[in-house]
Amino acid sequence: MFDNPSFDGHEGLHAFHDAATGLKCVIAVHSTALGPAAGGCRMWNYPTGDAMLTDVLRLSQGMSYKNAMAGIPLGGGKAVIWGDPKSGKSEALFEAFGRAVHSLNGTYYTAEDVGVDVADMTIVRRQTKFVAGLDEGDAASGDPSPVTAMGVYLGIREVAKRLFGTDDLNGRTIAVQGVGSVGGYTCEHLAKAGAKLVITDIDQEALAAVSARTGAVVVAPNDIYDVEADIFSPNALGAIINEKTLARLKVKGVAGGANNQLVVPEMGEFLRRKGILYAPDYVINGGGIINVAAEISGSYSREWVDATLAKLIDTLGEVLDEALQTNQPTNYVADRIARARIAAARKAR
Ligand code: NAD
Repeated sequence: MFDNPSFDGHEGLHAFHDAATGLKCVIAVHSTALGPAAGGCRMWNYPTGDAMLTDVLRLSQGMSYKNAMAGIPLGGGKAVIWGDPKSGKSEALFEAFGRAVHSLNGTYYTAEDVGVDVADMTIVRRQTKFVAGLDEGDAASGDPSPVTAMGVYLGIREVAKRLFGTDDLNGRTIAVQGVGSVGGYTCEHLAKAGAKLVITDIDQEALAAVSARTGAVVVAPNDIYDVEADIFSPNALGAIINEKTLARLKVKGVAGGANNQLVVPEMGEFLRRKGILYAPDYVINGGGIINVAAEISGSYSREWVDATLAKLIDTLGEVLDEALQTNQPTNYVADRIARARIAAARKAR
């Protein structure tokens, strides 16, 4: 962990192997300064263990910053399970994962992320109470992705307001990469607002379903970077803003729910130089964790979720304005605010 370039003062890294089920998972706790570490569990067929480690280190740091920006009393953590979510799932596997989470005694709360759904988390709940994103139980909040998508939609409007002087999306073209849970719901909001959609995904079924619901034009996965659009909305995986894709982008803004969109933070500066306004991923996609925070608090309130989401979108607007006024990359402005909030909490403790 200490040699990995993505190490960022993480408090802990916990690797688990369960021979009976074949579970290989890693839980990273980045910071508990603001409260117990919270962040979803991703299941992915990583090419190597190193790739898995790098992903969980980056994702958990992102959760600390995200939770700090969302103004919720949670620190940052993340779990990754090594395996194919289409063929590698079993009840026993998620029970073993639940025991791993429980062994951390509430230092880390888990929930859904890519490849993991509510049914999986319901199995995890058999072994630990340190799990959220359930649809049964006293404070159950269910799938967080509709709230994430609402935040992404509102965030796209904030970006549009700064780019075009209005947040009216009627007639604007939005290129959407990934139409799974978050991307799919986001497309529905965008279509209702009159936006023209160009979508892609590697899952043909998901593509066909979203296209049928929203009238979106479908392009091949690799063609999404060449689409002439007002805003590009990445809602699949990370590192999709890199040297190669940056040269191809023909958009004025980037605003989507995917985590870790920039291959390196410096990409924020390159986006700025190209005149592309970037909504920092961990700010715009904080809706889901707000929903999860409501559940972790023990008494879910939709009003609190909506009010906290509205505050988060105001914070996003402040980040965009400060960045534009001071000619800084938006992600640097957000990072500075997040780090200051975490440092203040650590000091107060
Ligand atoms: P999901 O698995 O439901 O959807 C992801 C979609 O991306 C899938 O349809 C998948 O086929 C597609 N995809 C994968 N690789 C692709 C590629 N190369 N090109 C095009 N499409 C590709 O996951 P989700 O919950 O919608 O999450 C999407 C992103 O948003 C992830 O980065 C996740 O970490 C982030 N996020 C999700 C939430 C949430 O509430 N679910 C919250 C915050 C952030």
